[in-house]
Amino acid sequence: MGAPHSEVVIIGGGLSGLACAVTLADRGLPVSLFESRPRLGGRASSFEDRQTQHLIDNCQHVSMGCCDEFNRFCETVGISSSFRREKKLYFIGPRSSRPDGIEQPFKINAFSANPCLPAPFHLLPAFGGLSYLSFPEKIGLARGLKQLALTPLDLDNEPTIAAWLVEQKQSQNVIDRFWNVVLVSALSESLERISLSHARKVFVDGFLRTRNGWQVLIPTVPLEKLYGEVILKRLEKQQAKVHLQTGVDRVQITDGKVTGVQLRDGREIACERVVLAVPHQRVLSMLPDEFEGRESLSKIEQIESAPITSVHLWFDREITALPHAVFVDSLSQWMFNRSRIMQQPSEAGFYYQIVISASHNLTGEARQGRTQAEIIATVIEELTRIWPETTQAQLIHSRMVTEHQAVFSVKPGIERLRPSQRTAVKGLYLAGDWTSTGWPATMEGAVRSGLQATEFLLDDLGQPESLLLPPSKTGILSKILFGL
Ligand SMILES: Cc1cc2nc3c(=O)[nH]c(=O)nc-3n(C[C@H](O)[C@H](O)[C@H](O)COP(=O)(O)OP(=O)(O)OC[C@H]3O[C@@H](n4cnc5c(N)ncnc54)[C@H](O)[C@@H]3O)c2cc1C
Repeated sequence: MGAPHSEVVIIGGGLSGLACAVTLADRGLPVSLFESRPRLGGRASSFEDRQTQHLIDNCQHVSMGCCDEFNRFCETVGISSSFRREKKLYFIGPRSSRPDGIEQPFKINAFSANPCLPAPFHLLPAFGGLSYLSFPEKIGLARGLKQLALTPLDLDNEPTIAAWLVEQKQSQNVIDRFWNVVLVSALSESLERISLSHARKVFVDGFLRTRNGWQVLIPTVPLEKLYGEVILKRLEKQQAKVHLQTGVDRVQITDGKVTGVQLRDGREIACERVVLAVPHQRVLSMLPDEFEGRESLSKIEQIESAPITSVHLWFDREITALPHAVFVDSLSQWMFNRSRIMQQPSEAGFYYQIVISASHNLTGEARQGRTQAEIIATVIEELTRIWPETTQAQLIHSRMVTEHQAVFSVKPGIERLRPSQRTAVKGLYLAGDWTSTGWPATMEGAVRSGLQATEFLLDDLGQPESLLLPPSKTGILSKILFGL
C-alpha cells in the first residue's frame, strides 16, 4: 500500500493536463507530468517559423467572456494580463442585403453591447445595425434566437442546427450570414454537423445569459510564452516534475487498479494515480487490451474530429489597422492583425492570421486538387476586395497550417460518447476537452475537464474540495424571459 499522497502522474501537457497539474501542485501533492512534445500547451501552442524565425501559433486561440474556468485559470497562473479583451467586434459584409447583382462595397459593422440595456437585450441594437441583413431578416433572426433559447433539449434525439433552422423558417441569407458565421467559428464545425444543444449553448452563454459573455479575449503574445514558459516555470517552482519529450506508451493496470506507466523509452514508473490527458484518439491504445471497465470507454472511438486551417501572411505594409475582423460571404472567417495585437510590426513584416474553421473543403478529396498556393491566393483576393490597398502591398511570406484533428465534432449524440473523468479503474482519471464537460472543444472545456478530474482524484484521496466555479449569474431578465 502506498502513502495517500504518492505521486500523481499526468500524461499530456495540454491545457487539461496543465490545469490538473497546477491545481494538484498548489495543494502540495507530488506531480509528474509527461509530455511527448518538446513544449507544453498541446493544441494551443506555437512553433518556430523557419523563414521569419518567429514563434507563431499553430492557430489563433481566443477565449470568450463566458469562459469562466479558463479565464480564472489564467488569473491563477498569472497570464491574464497577456490577453486583450475585445469589447467591439468588426463584422465585415456587403453594405446592403439586396442581392441586386451589382458589386457592393463592403461595410465594417462595429458590433458592441449597448451600455444601457441589460441582458438579453444588450446586443439587440448591434444585431439591428448589421448592414447585410434586411429589416424583415433581422426580425426573423430575433424570433429564431428567442425560439432557440426557449427550445427544450432532448440530447438523445436532437436534430442538427441546420435542420432546426430550416424548420424554424430562417431565411437562407440569415443562415449564411448570421448563424453560419457565428456557429462555425465558435464550434469549428459545419451547420450540417452541429447539434442543436451545442448551438444553443453558444447563444445562451455567449449572447443571452450575461452582458459580457460574447466578448473575445485575444492573447497578445505567442501561446508558447503563456502555456509553455509561464506555466512551466510555475510548475517547476511548485516542485512538480515536468518531463518534456517523454512520451508514455502505456498505463499499467492490474486487478482493476493503476500500478504504473511505461514510457516510450521502456522505463517503468510505479504509481497509483494517473490522469490521462491526451487527445481522445490516443486513449484506448494507451490502456491494456483487457481490463475491467474498458468496455465503458469503447464509445470514445466513435468521436469524430473536424479540421481548422490557418493562413499566415506577412506583408511589407499594413493592409488594415483593425485588430481583427469577422468575414461574411467568404472562405476566410476571422482575420487577426497579429502585429497590432502584439503591438509589434516585426522586421519580418506586418503579420495577419486568417482562420478557417471546419475546413473540411480544404482537406482530402474535398480540396479538389486545389494547392496551398491557390487557397492562399483566394484568401488574399478576399482581403483585397475589402481593403483594396492590399494590391499595393507586397506579400513577403505566407504559410498555411491545417490541423486535421483540431476539435471533436459536436454532432447530435456526441454527449453520449464523452466519458466521465472518473473511470471504473481505481486511480485512473481522464482529462481532455473531449471528456464530459458539456462544453465544445475549447480551452474552457479542457481546463474544466482538468479541474473535474482533479476533483474526483482529491475526493478519492479523502480530500474533497469543490474546484469548479458555480455557474455565473444569469441576468434577471434572461431568467424571467427564457428561464435560463
Ligand atoms: C487549430 C486550432 C484552433 C483552435 N482554436 C481555439 C480557440 O480559438 N479557442 C479555444 O478555446 N479553443 C481552440 N481550439 C481548441 C483547443 O486548442 C483545445 O480544446 C485544447 O487546447 C485542448 O486541450 P487538451 O489538454 O484537452 O488536449 P491537447 O491540447 O491535445 O493536449 C494533449 C497533450 O497530450 C500530449 N500527448 C499525446 N500523447 C501522449 C503520450 N503518449 N505521452 C505524453 N504526452 C502525450 C500531446 O502532445 C498534447 O500536448 C483550437 C484547436 C486547434 C487545433
